[in-house]
Amino acid sequence: MERIDHLLPWGHLGCERQLSVFRFGSGERKAYIQASLHADELPGMRAAWELKKRLTELEQQGALNGVIELVPVANPMGLGQLLQGSHQGRFEVGSGKNFNRDFVELSAPVAELLKGKLGDDPHANVRMFRQAMTDALNALPAPSSQLQGMQRILLSHACTADIVLDLHCDAEAALHMYALPQHWPQWRSLSAHLGVKVGLLAEDSGGSSFDEACSLPWLRLSQAFPEAQVPLACLATTLELGGQADTGRDEAIFHAEGILAFLAEQGLITGQWPAPQYDACEGLPFEGTELLFAPHAGVISYLRKAGDRVEAGDEIFEVIDPLTDHVSIVFAGTSGVLFAVERLRYAQAGFWLAKVAGREALRHGRLLND
Ligand SMILES: [Zn+2]
Repeated sequence: MERIDHLLPWGHLGCERQLSVFRFGSGERKAYIQASLHADELPGMRAAWELKKRLTELEQQGALNGVIELVPVANPMGLGQLLQGSHQGRFEVGSGKNFNRDFVELSAPVAELLKGKLGDDPHANVRMFRQAMTDALNALPAPSSQLQGMQRILLSHACTADIVLDLHCDAEAALHMYALPQHWPQWRSLSAHLGVKVGLLAEDSGGSSFDEACSLPWLRLSQAFPEAQVPLACLATTLELGGQADTGRDEAIFHAEGILAFLAEQGLITGQWPAPQYDACEGLPFEGTELLFAPHAGVISYLRKAGDRVEAGDEIFEVIDPLTDHVSIVFAGTSGVLFAVERLRYAQAGFWLAKVAGREALRHGRLLND
């Protein structure tokens, strides 16, 4: 195992932060796993520590068939944002920016670098694309903030990988994952190993999140250079490992073992691995996810829990105003999986309180809420 420490730019006077990457194995193929880019989403960090121990063992046994890079603490900036006992790990407090938005879009600079240079060997072209992604990142002007510098370091390790797992979680949630629709057949097995309840599929959710900054350039470049026959060579997902409180030891070990079994199926680890314990879940259009909001302020009682299957018209939560005795029941507008609910029990204007993944497209354009 090799530990690579990157110093983040724009440290405050007398205060520096670093980002650490743990690299296991060797070879051409590569998987990249990072945890807790939203710094208050810690189930991924907990599972990453299990992965770190297991990858150390597997490397010592000579069982790794490629490189696996692990970043268990992807956001040291956000980890420090503890404000009077509350953790604000989703947005950078200085700028208000979401840590998982606005990653550099690499397809345009890569297309510029490779114009007229690709041959007819898809494998050689994939290598050229990856090198061009690294070159394009290195050619950018110096980062203008610590956040931007941190995002570029993360992307520089991930954009050359065959498989990228970005470990997040929702507020209170069942396991779910986001990916390109074209990649869903390859992800089904991971969903079965982990007991994922739903895959949310979109080509471009808007916002340039980390997983799409890794996977989407390949789709755009394959369309820009059809003659190069380049596959969508970076299988990237945002994997939501349940809710914020789900940092139990047993579930972390289960998640780590499921990820390792999937990586073994993908050829990165040798040996016998257990078959999935669950059936693969359904992959649904992310456009079919309904966000439910409260109609007024009040205290919330959830009437269903995250992970439940619901039908359109089912009661999901009630909002109670004890001053006026006004009670509103909010119903599912679509049938599907209630995959996440909010942790706060006070309804405020404009904040989602429940998410239902359905089959029919309900939303278009920017699909990610902030
Ligand atoms: Zn997140």
